[in-house]
Amino acid sequence: MRRHRNVKIVATLGPASSSKEMISALFEAGADVFRLNMSHGSHEDHRERYEIIRQIEAEAGRPIAILADLQGPKLRVGKFADGAHDLAPGDRFRFDLDAAEGNGERVQLPHPEIFAALIEGSELLVNDGKIRLRVDECGADFANCTVTVGGTISDRKGVNVPDVVLPLAALSDKDRADLEFACELGVDWLALSFVQRAEDVEEAKSLAKGRAAVLSKIEKPAAVRAFEEILEASDGIMVARGDLGVELPVHSVPPIQKRLVRQCRAAAKPVIVATQMLESMIESPMPTRAEVSDVANAIYEGTDAVMLSAESAAGDFPIEAVRTMDSVARSVEADPNYRSIIDAARRASLSTVPDAIVTAAREIAETTDVAAICVFTQSGKTVSLVGRERPRVPILAMSPIESVLRRMCLTWGTHCVVTGRLSRFKEAVVNATRAARDYGFADETRQVVVVAGVPFNVAGSTNILRIAPCDERLIYASELE
Ligand code: ATP
Ligand code: MG
Ligand code: MG
Repeated sequence: MRRHRNVKIVATLGPASSSKEMISALFEAGADVFRLNMSHGSHEDHRERYEIIRQIEAEAGRPIAILADLQGPKLRVGKFADGAHDLAPGDRFRFDLDAAEGNGERVQLPHPEIFAALIEGSELLVNDGKIRLRVDECGADFANCTVTVGGTISDRKGVNVPDVVLPLAALSDKDRADLEFACELGVDWLALSFVQRAEDVEEAKSLAKGRAAVLSKIEKPAAVRAFEEILEASDGIMVARGDLGVELPVHSVPPIQKRLVRQCRAAAKPVIVATQMLESMIESPMPTRAEVSDVANAIYEGTDAVMLSAESAAGDFPIEAVRTMDSVARSVEADPNYRSIIDAARRASLSTVPDAIVTAAREIAETTDVAAICVFTQSGKTVSLVGRERPRVPILAMSPIESVLRRMCLTWGTHCVVTGRLSRFKEAVVNATRAARDYGFADETRQVVVVAGVPFNVAGSTNILRIAPCDERLIYASELE
C-alpha cells in the first residue's frame, strides 16, 4: 500500500479512536502520524494506543510516526459530575478552587494565579474561545461571571485570559513527567505547547536527549515575534491556530500561517497546520465548503501536514474526516495551479554539496520522466532537503535506521522504506529500484534518481547522484561498483 499524495495527515487519538480496529481504519484511510495529547487521558491510555500503533506498523511494514503533545502551561477547568453543560448568554457561572466536580452553576479552575490577576470586567474564554464570560466579582479563590457568548462547557476545556499577563514556566512538573514517559515509550516527536522563546525548546531538547525530535507549537504572540530563533532551535513547527486565534485577533492568524509555512519550508523543517480544519465533522459526516477550502489552502501554501484534533479524537466521524483530508489533498495536488504556486515559493538553495545534489535531483525529475527520487539517509537531513524542493515525483526515504524514518513521516512527499545495512553503492541502487517497483512507484521500464553518500553509514556525506534503470539486469550489467 502506498499513499497517492504528498501532504501528510496527522490524526489525534482519543476516546473515539482507541480500538485497534479504529486506529487501523484511520491508518488505511490515510493517517500518516498519530498524535497522543498528554492533556487528556492517562499514561496507561497512551501506552495502550502506542502499542496498537506499533502493531499496525509492523503488520503494514511501513514506518508510522507518533507525536506526543505536551500540555504546557495551559489553563484548564476541572471535571463535571455529569459531562457537559450548555451555557447561554446571560447565565451566571462561577469558577473557583474547590476540587468538587462541577455542575451547571460552577466548576473548578485549579489555578490560583488567575484569580490573583483577574479584576472586575476581565474576560475569560473557554474552549479555544468558543465560550466567553465577563467577570462580575472576584476574590483570591473565585470569580463570578456572566456568560456573554454561550456554548457547551465540559471536562478539562482550556481557558484563556487574553487581557491578563500570567507568569508562565515553559514546562510544568506534569510536562516533565509526560516528556520522560513519552521518550521511554519511544515516541518519535514531542510537541511543546505555548513556547515563547528558543530557550524553552532547548530545555525540552536537553531533557529528550535525542530520543525524540521536538516541534514547537506556535500559539503565543511572543512566539510569533521570536519565530526565527524558535524555528532555528526546533526540529519542526505546528501552527496551533486554536490558542493563537484567542491570544491574537482571529483575523491575524491567516497571514501568520502563510508566513510560518514559508519560513519552515525554507528551513527544510516540517510544519503542521492544526485546529478546526474540519471542525463540523465532529458531528456531521459532511464538511462545510469553508472547511474544505481551509484544508485546500493550507496545502496550496505548501504545508507538510494537516491535522485533525477533536474530529478524530472525540468526534462521530473520524474515518470520514481522514478520508476528506485525503481527497482534498489529492484534488489540490492534481491541479496544475498547485504546481505553479509551489514552484514560485521555492527559494534558491544554499551552496553546500547536498544542496546542489538535491537541486539537481529535482531538476532531473522536472526534465526527464524518472519515476521517483530515492534518498539514502542516516540522519534524515538529506530527505528534508529533497522535501524542501517539493519535486514533482515521489521521494523514497531509505535508511536502515527505523527511528529516523519514523520522524520523516511528517515530511512532505516522503515514502519511508526500511533497508538492511548497506556497504556499497551498487547495493543501494539495487535496493532503491527494488523498493520503487515493490511499492508501486515504477515498473521495469522506468528510471529513478538515486541520491546517497559514499562512504555509507556516515551522516552528512551526501555526494552522489545516479539515474538508474529499474530493470535489475541492466544494473547488474553495468560496470558500476
Ligand atoms: P490542545 O491545546 O493541546 O490542542 P485540546 O484540548 O484542544 O488541547 P485537542 O487534542 O486539540 O485538545 O482536541 C481533542 C478534543 O477531544 C478535546 O477537546 C478533548 O475534549 C477531547 N478529548 C477527550 N479525551 C481525549 C483524549 N484522551 N485525547 C485527546 N482528546 C481528547
Ligand atoms: Mg493548544
Ligand atoms: Mg486543540
